[in-house]
Amino acid sequence: MSSRVKFHCHEDLSCFNQCCRRTPTIILSPYDILRLKQCLGLKSGEFLRRYTLREIEEWSNLPLVFIDPYGAKDGGCPFIGPHGCQVYDHRPAACRLFPITMGSRLTENGVVDYYFCRQLDYCQGFATDIEWTLESWMANQGFKEYAEGRKDWLEIMLRKGVQGPAGVDAPLQDLFATIAYDQDTLRTLLDQPGFRKACGLKGKALDYLTLDDLALLKLSYKCLRALVLG
Ligand code: SF4
Ligand code: SF4
Repeated sequence: MSSRVKFHCHEDLSCFNQCCRRTPTIILSPYDILRLKQCLGLKSGEFLRRYTLREIEEWSNLPLVFIDPYGAKDGGCPFIGPHGCQVYDHRPAACRLFPITMGSRLTENGVVDYYFCRQLDYCQGFATDIEWTLESWMANQGFKEYAEGRKDWLEIMLRKGVQGPAGVDAPLQDLFATIAYDQDTLRTLLDQPGFRKACGLKGKALDYLTLDDLALLKLSYKCLRALVLG
């Protein structure tokens, strides 16, 4: 993208925090959840219970997880504080990219992402001379590792969306949600030979239980592929 956008968000603007208070819709990828639960020192199950809502995506019938948009005492994102985002260094991909919004679609060449600028009427961040390209904005916001971390999950969701919702019943939705979003519970599932077999995993339980979070995330994508796409 060669377009440029002028944008600078800072604490002195009168709109500061408003975007996070106005019931934002922030979909969390498994990588977003991993970063947030690490930052907060929580097990993934506890993080999901305290801070998120789950909905079913209509094309794939698979579950999506959102930050609870009413999670703060006086409304809005539960992570908002008087001086801004309290999980700033670990904020989700959607927050990093804002005011750019990303969409993705599946083509014969794989997943293609597209980007557009979302100018909220109350957002004053555009009144500046600080200018960005898409690339410089992504680099500034540390977006690359987030894009990398969620790539496989996004592709699985899109591929299942193209196939249609057939075969995705409530037990599969629950299993998908556990594998994709609840890493710490996934570790306990990996202890079960039947589960490892269903996911096409050949190693012994110990091979998997000692994996770090990022390695476990990659493994979870392998399990999701096997379960959902066959
Ligand atoms: S400038 Fe825009 S992004 Fe920044 S706090 Fe204000 S509304 Fe939110
Ligand atoms: S995670 Fe942080 S940046 Fe994102 S909506 Fe919540 S408070 Fe705002």
